Amino acid sequence: MNRLNVNRFFFALFYAPRIVSNATVISPTRKSSNMRQSTLLLPTLKENPADADVASHRLMLRAGLIRQLASGLYTWLPLGLRVLRKIEHIIRDEMNISGAQEVMMPIVQPAELWQESGRWQKMGSEMLRIKDRHERDFCLGPTHEEVITDIFRREVHSYKQLPINFYQIQTKFRDERRPRFGVMRAREFIMKDAYSFHLDQESFDATYQEMYDCYSRILNRMQLTFRAVQADTGNIGGDNSHEFHVLASSGEDTIAYSPAGSYAANLEKATAMAPAAAPAPGQDLEKINTPNEKTIDAISKLLNISASQTVKTLVVKGVEGPVAIILRGDHELNKIKAAKLPSIASPIEFADENEIIQSMGAHPGFLGPVNCKIAYLVDRDAAALADFVCGANEDGVHFTGANWHRDSPLDDDQIVDARNVVEGDAAPDGEGTIEFLRGIEVGHIFQLDKAYSEPLEASVLDKEGVSQIPIMGCYGMGVTRLVAAVIEQNHDDNGILWPQPLTPYDLHIVALNPQKSEAVREASEKLYNEALATGLEILLDDRDERPGVKFADADLIGIPQRLIVGDRGLKNNVVEYKKREEKEAIELPLDQVIAHVTRRIV
Ligand code: ATP
Ligand code: MG
Repeated sequence: MNRLNVNRFFFALFYAPRIVSNATVISPTRKSSNMRQSTLLLPTLKENPADADVASHRLMLRAGLIRQLASGLYTWLPLGLRVLRKIEHIIRDEMNISGAQEVMMPIVQPAELWQESGRWQKMGSEMLRIKDRHERDFCLGPTHEEVITDIFRREVHSYKQLPINFYQIQTKFRDERRPRFGVMRAREFIMKDAYSFHLDQESFDATYQEMYDCYSRILNRMQLTFRAVQADTGNIGGDNSHEFHVLASSGEDTIAYSPAGSYAANLEKATAMAPAAAPAPGQDLEKINTPNEKTIDAISKLLNISASQTVKTLVVKGVEGPVAIILRGDHELNKIKAAKLPSIASPIEFADENEIIQSMGAHPGFLGPVNCKIAYLVDRDAAALADFVCGANEDGVHFTGANWHRDSPLDDDQIVDARNVVEGDAAPDGEGTIEFLRGIEVGHIFQLDKAYSEPLEASVLDKEGVSQIPIMGCYGMGVTRLVAAVIEQNHDDNGILWPQPLTPYDLHIVALNPQKSEAVREASEKLYNEALATGLEILLDDRDERPGVKFADADLIGIPQRLIVGDRGLKNNVVEYKKREEKEAIELPLDQVIAHVTRRIV
């Protein structure tokens, strides 16, 4: 075999199957106009749209991937849809490999099912409710636990059919309070959701691990930098819950992780370690007048002390009347962790000013644990203070030198973890300290237990013929959000840089002044056909536009490889080849250029 043949052999072995499998996602039709920019709907924008706050939103609009129909509702234009389909293809592929079975459930769901699970009332205004012509209640599915459990209870009857994992790639509707960042937080979006059913915890644990691995494979195939982090399970509880976050400075979530160890959790969930116990009191309790000092900042300034030597007192609604939560002055309440405390109402609701005055006898700004008339809980770090400053439950007055036990009773069961961790805290796994990263939540896997199977009375017969209620798992992935997340991680000042597995086209052929040059028209057509025959997906810029406009658009839409076909090069039988991320183009002989391109698709 000579060298060229060896190359061809390896090309056939390694690359050809990939290209073929890509081509099955979007079959290249020679006659179709969808690869020619002169006819393709690809409305690029020169200017940044005014209302787009993050790079992905700006670029998705500018590169002609999406258009907004109304708040949180988007049309996917041809270029965007190609990327979306590739993401779906990778997800579907990996879900199938993991043994999950694809189904597709209706978007419109009857109220009765949601009444059975108890969520018709609970869901609140995120759920869009509609009526049919007979005045029957329906909703647009924000999620599909009820529907899948209904299918299960009708169709699955024996332990022999378990475990079973169903998934779909389907539109969801959630009437988000603040739709924003384009498709990142939309009202209508596409989710891959999966639901598994098991007779025992061991079987659930195996599928959970399988889904964890599957999500990692999916995000790796998309060449994303991501982290799986411990997450909150909402009302369901339990420790089996991980979110998958694509790391990006624009992410809405904060991830607390330890660079030295393996700890990583959503800030909502991250545990604050208990500090050493409080030292013995050193000061006497003293009242001071503070007529204008209503904030931690003001009182710390007045006394020239650090905020960490003060405590703040928040009054929230409890299961039986108001409850005060005491935090160190420099710490923030973690509403998710606090709402999980048994005596506190969930979701957390702050008492209003009237309730505070009635229950505490003072205005907010002057509250504290000494002489506190209502039940109180104390965060671990506040409980470790001695000689601290707090409000005196009397307007215009604070205490200095306050100490637990001596001035304010404190039982062990009043000490709780209710604050947000901060950078520099000790990591809960004992390895190093906490640092923060920003992340975009693209996936969430968690244990549902019997939260749906029990109320919907799903059951199977076990080996002994005894009816058993299955435990369930639930695995969501934001398909449309992923497009935005990919762009957040892959862009520069000029536009998008698509990772090869997701690029809408493999190759961008840019014909310079084709309207003026027969040679350019012919050569670009020829290259286009040659590349098409290898199974590549090509976008041909055959428009009658200035070269500068074409280059700017090419950078904006970000196809990884580009050929520039111009009269000057053609005179020497060469075309220019440029990778999107590189500054300089190189010249390649016309007859070698397509082989060069295909070799670079890995
Ligand atoms: P978030 O905290 O971002 O609101 P969630 O906890 O409501 O997310 P899930 O119900 O777990 O999300 O949904 C699974 C996945 O669907 C999420 O991980 C996210 O990627 C995606 N997703 C959720 N809400 C939206 C939305 N409004 N727009 C786009 N994608 C979304
Ligand atoms: Mg949500």
